[in-house]
Amino acid sequence: MIRKKVREILDGEATGTEVLVKGWVRTHRNSKNVSFIALNDGSTIRNLQVVADVNHFSGELLGEINTGAALSVTGILAASAGSGQAVELVAREIVLLGGADPENFPMQPKKHSLEFLRENAHLRFRTNTFGAIFRIRHAMAFAIHDYFNRRGFYYLHTPIITASDAEGAGQMFRVTTLDALQPPLTEEGKVDFSADFFGRPTNLTVSGQLEGELGATALGEIYTFGPTFRAENSNTTRHLAEFWMIEPEMAFYDLKDNMDLAEDFLKSLIRYALDHCSEDLAFLATRLREEEKGKPREQQSMDLIEKLKFVADNEFVRLTYTEAIDILRNSNHYKKKKFQFPVEWGVDLQSEHERYLVENHFRKPVILINYPKEIKAFYMKQNDDGKTVAAMDVLFPQIGEIIGGSQREEDYDKLVARMEEMHIPVEEMWWYLDTRRYGTVPHSGFGLGFERFILFITGMGNIRDVIAFPRTPRNAEF
Ligand code: ATP
Ligand code: MN
Repeated sequence: MIRKKVREILDGEATGTEVLVKGWVRTHRNSKNVSFIALNDGSTIRNLQVVADVNHFSGELLGEINTGAALSVTGILAASAGSGQAVELVAREIVLLGGADPENFPMQPKKHSLEFLRENAHLRFRTNTFGAIFRIRHAMAFAIHDYFNRRGFYYLHTPIITASDAEGAGQMFRVTTLDALQPPLTEEGKVDFSADFFGRPTNLTVSGQLEGELGATALGEIYTFGPTFRAENSNTTRHLAEFWMIEPEMAFYDLKDNMDLAEDFLKSLIRYALDHCSEDLAFLATRLREEEKGKPREQQSMDLIEKLKFVADNEFVRLTYTEAIDILRNSNHYKKKKFQFPVEWGVDLQSEHERYLVENHFRKPVILINYPKEIKAFYMKQNDDGKTVAAMDVLFPQIGEIIGGSQREEDYDKLVARMEEMHIPVEEMWWYLDTRRYGTVPHSGFGLGFERFILFITGMGNIRDVIAFPRTPRNAEF
């Protein structure tokens, strides 16, 4: 017999049909003559109710059907008398594939704290919350590829090991095969990286953008979607040392085209989630409501599904960094000295400022553009004012910055001048500068942090809970 997934069975198998199903026991309770087993196989948040006649199965077998055990069940589908499901499976044959000692199995059917589940990340997939999160994460990855594929963007695999330290020097992870205890030394007594695997210092990538630009200036529109690494020692709920980033890069796009794409992209993904992940979202929405029950009204967030619809249906606000600074400095929040970090033209915005703009002032997602050049990367297009660059950050409620992007400087001389000002090694970047030497064109791109986006979609509060095995300072278990 062909195995059926629980989702297929609950969504359409007729009563009277014989089916084979395999999964893990969520709960098992006995009544006088029958035993009720809630079976989950990961295909849906819903469980299949298996009904076992206690006179038909041995007490020994039934005794081993504990939470966490794996079963293979054959039976006949029947209309269910119980509430919550249309059909249940009347078991004919049950095979215990793998038992789970009830004394030791950590994922007992009760409420666990997220901290406890993080310490048991190897088993947390077995909970409703994490099942929902990882099904949604999958759906979003699929929707991203689908979005770009429909628009003629090519998926470009940029390298994970790079020798360019143009961006984010100091916050990179070194990749080496040298002996850390006894590295070969040069005559001056420094580590001799010419003896290293690649014959030079190499690191894990902090962004695929520079290589992405090489692709875009020939293929037209590309995107990357891969792991990204930052050795920043920021132990926040929004930073990981290893995260996934989506970086589209488009020839012939100016900053406005770039903003239009970013906004349409985010809204399309949210609509995809609403259309395809409704059961899991409904579960997470309820979870969030329960979580916030005790909180005062003004601290409670909008219902998850309402929030997603709201963002998908409303235009994002677009304004300049300079306008944002004015709004912040004129706010009561600022006057009452409620911001921890300074608000001054030229200073980078902190997440408290970003969230104030989005959550208190506009109550909508915001795209901020034209940042001071001093706080942005060398490759951003220099504006005519001589002070700002054509950067754009997309700011979301609850998250702050979710996308960072820009129009790129396409003028060779301006780019090299800026690199020299910022002490970027111009000779080492010869391959990047070649795009500006041969057929240079206006082009733009941005980076979306995948986990930050999944935080937004799921309403979870900590980025460690939307990636299977989080990597953060002092933490690389599993
Ligand atoms: P932040 O200021 O929030 O630290 P950033 O300005 O360093 O972010 P970018 O270099 O612009 O980030 O990266 C593009 C996107 O990647 C960000 O908008 C964010 O969504 C995501 N991102 C950046 N750093 C991290 C991180 N450490 N963990 C998870 N996502 C990140
Ligand atoms: Mn940024």
